Amino acid sequence: MKKTKIICTIGPASSSPKVIEELAEAGMDIIRLNLSHGDYASREKVIAQVRALSKKLDRPIGVMVDLQGPKIRVGELKRPITLKKGETIILTHKPGELEPTKYTIIPVQEDLRASLRKDDPILINDGKIRIKVERVQGLKVWCSVINGGEVSTHKGMNLPQSKIRLPIMSPKDEADLRFGLEHDADFIALSFVRQPQDILNLRKLIEKYNPDKYEQPWVIAKIEKPEAVQNFSKILQLADAVMVARGDLGVEIPASEVPLVQKKIIEECLHAAKPSIVATQMLDSMVDSPTPSRAEVSDVATAVVDHADCVMLSQETATGKYPVQSTRMMAKIVEQTEQSPYDDLPHGYLADQRDSRAAAVADSAHELSKNMDAKAIVGVTVSGFTARMISHQRPQNAEIIMMTQSPKVYRQLSLVWGVRAYIIPRSKTLEDLIRNAIVLAKRRKLVKKGDKIVVVTGQPVGLRENMNLVEVQTV
Ligand code: PEP
Repeated sequence: MKKTKIICTIGPASSSPKVIEELAEAGMDIIRLNLSHGDYASREKVIAQVRALSKKLDRPIGVMVDLQGPKIRVGELKRPITLKKGETIILTHKPGELEPTKYTIIPVQEDLRASLRKDDPILINDGKIRIKVERVQGLKVWCSVINGGEVSTHKGMNLPQSKIRLPIMSPKDEADLRFGLEHDADFIALSFVRQPQDILNLRKLIEKYNPDKYEQPWVIAKIEKPEAVQNFSKILQLADAVMVARGDLGVEIPASEVPLVQKKIIEECLHAAKPSIVATQMLDSMVDSPTPSRAEVSDVATAVVDHADCVMLSQETATGKYPVQSTRMMAKIVEQTEQSPYDDLPHGYLADQRDSRAAAVADSAHELSKNMDAKAIVGVTVSGFTARMISHQRPQNAEIIMMTQSPKVYRQLSLVWGVRAYIIPRSKTLEDLIRNAIVLAKRRKLVKKGDKIVVVTGQPVGLRENMNLVEVQTV
């Protein structure tokens, strides 16, 4: 079984129950609903299908709701407009209020005037078009075109060097968040995070709309702004997981820097025992073609070798012609790479992390599993913390089997490298808990009589982030 998890973005190409089931069989662990597009009714149906499918397949499939955040877009255009190099144009959020002019007017969804200064670059349509701010005057932002091209309705705009004065969440994002919470989303991803405060603001809203503090979705910070790269360590402390959102990131910073930023982010996540996701254009040519390019295959393998927890498909599964084949291809590349030694962590790699009891316990469990040639590390996790701590050791031979009493944590573990999650009934004593965990692992044929296993738990039973006990057992 593969250890690196796969996220599939669901869209028109993959919303039917048949395709969703095929995606799960091909290796999908999590669905992503990108709320920049689509309507609530169809999203609701997809979530219900996925929950039913997870029961049928008897394994967790997580649901990620991805909030658009302060994404800037071109407004409504009657027809596409071609911008020519050297031309002067006007951007405005109120096109209806301008007098007729000989200059081309590009409507913008947001009022950007407070965010823009002279000479700020603006990139449109994934960076293909580049314009530069000349001056802000009344409702108009005058710009000159540096690289021309065709602009059409709702194309994305990036302002890599501007201090964007838009709130991290719009009223639409807040409504989308409430939709996610009402449907018990397992993960809320936030786009265009700039600073740690953005994560705190999202958490406050989550608490406001979902007061059950023990059953909260994990917050995923999407790293796609230069400020987020600069503030990464502090953002990581506050987020539950991180996505390297390479689509926008590769426009906001020079594309040549993205591979190194990706490596640095994954490395920090691994040390912090927080899951990392590598996203966007991983098998992009499979949007139209049944086979990927060699470079794309290499890109997926590199993410596995870098120790990402998850790899993600976007257009490939949302709107592409080959959603199931893309997922199968991704799973195959992941599995083959994992069988090689290239993704193994060197011995002692996390040794500098032994500053907490939990890190030391996880390290001991890993060492024991290697020395005893254990079949599995079996843990009981309340919040998912124990699972993350064991996973970041990246054990190569022992399976990571994690039991939890919470259906939500069970689904959240779909994001964590190598973890196979199961739901376990409530137990009063530690002895009962361990006995029940072993009975369950045996019944599921995960271990058999005579196998050695390493058990990781915490006493007293049921406390969060309380791993303090490791023991070797023979089943
Ligand atoms: C990205 O920009 O890489 C990304 C994942 O964000 P989205 O798909 O929401 O644009």
